[in-house]
Amino acid sequence: MTRPFTFPGLATRVVFGHGTLAQVPEEVARFGHSRALVLSTPQQEPQAQALADALGARSAGVFAGATMHTPVEVTEQAVAAYASAGADCVVSLGGGSTTGLGKAIATRTGADQVVVPTTYAGSEMTDILGETAGGEKTTRRDASIRPEVVVYDVDLTLTLPVGLTVTSALNAIAHAMEGFYAPDRHPITEALSRDAMTAFARALPVLVGNPQDPTARADALYAAWGCSTTLGHVTMALHHKLAHVLGGSFGLPHAETHAVLLPHTTAYNEAAVEGLLNPIRDAFGHPTAAAGLWHLAKSCGAPTRLADLGLTVADLDRAAEIAARNPYANPRPITRDGIRHLLQHAFDGDCP
Ligand code: NAD
Repeated sequence: MTRPFTFPGLATRVVFGHGTLAQVPEEVARFGHSRALVLSTPQQEPQAQALADALGARSAGVFAGATMHTPVEVTEQAVAAYASAGADCVVSLGGGSTTGLGKAIATRTGADQVVVPTTYAGSEMTDILGETAGGEKTTRRDASIRPEVVVYDVDLTLTLPVGLTVTSALNAIAHAMEGFYAPDRHPITEALSRDAMTAFARALPVLVGNPQDPTARADALYAAWGCSTTLGHVTMALHHKLAHVLGGSFGLPHAETHAVLLPHTTAYNEAAVEGLLNPIRDAFGHPTAAAGLWHLAKSCGAPTRLADLGLTVADLDRAAEIAARNPYANPRPITRDGIRHLLQHAFDGDCP
């Protein structure tokens, strides 16, 4: 039965293809901007510099200081660089960390953003910004955070190492998973997420054997777009909350934490949502969505145990405590004991 829904519309212009990086200068010009500050991590600075060169007179230089969890001190340096270069927009070239820096600059300066994503994390289509100040990460949503243009260039993902390819894809699948049962889901996010599951199921086994396969890379980046769009249009629940706790309070790495948690958070909610996760179950070919995701992670060489990410048994009680502290909407009620049990399974790496 089709449920009643409200669809707010898609606000971001998307350019998708091979070699589309060459279109960034015209995308900057389309907005009437004349000076773009190109953002990247230190690791991707050479690529950012090449893009700044291609922008020519439209370049306001490169700021290559983006780092995980968007620390406000880095944002302040970047905003100073933006102002002193006389920039009027940003181009964020990289993964979620670089996109996060672009969003942080945009909220402070009103800059338009062109994002060129090079991982599957999926920050580019969302109105969400996570920032860290004084060691604490806070997240907020606002329409002004959402990037104006996203240029997906499949060729830029050919260099993504196999490990990050798989964990980043599982990070993306987590957005779709929670999107399938989100109270504000609608047919657009459901259709995009369903299609994304099929595309990831096709692409990931190929990429593990041949990370440079252009067709599989295109499928995976297309899937990441669908998952990111879902994340950007619905409310997330237990999985994202728990990943936030483990990243923010225990310093666990972002993509790996999503990868390890996903089968267990899926299992926690799957029985409570009566078939809503069947698109995942069907795409990955196991009796439950949770088992399908665990086997996918295992067969692609992703980490499956929180123990391997540096968490200790002693941390599990505190993590469960924090995660259960503030009530939030989730299909199955959040209890401290329920979360502690989930975390133990994720710690041990059992198949749910
Ligand atoms: P990342 O951006 O930190 O990238 C990880 C590393 O991979 C970096 O060193 C980067 O330079 C490198 N890299 C990126 N693309 C590459 C490529 N194609 N080839 C080789 N190396 C490459 O990691 P991430 O997982 O993309 O993003 C994680 C961050 O994004 C977290 O801080 C998370 O909170 C945030 N995030 C935010 C949202 C949102 O909607 N606000 C959504 C998802 C993720």
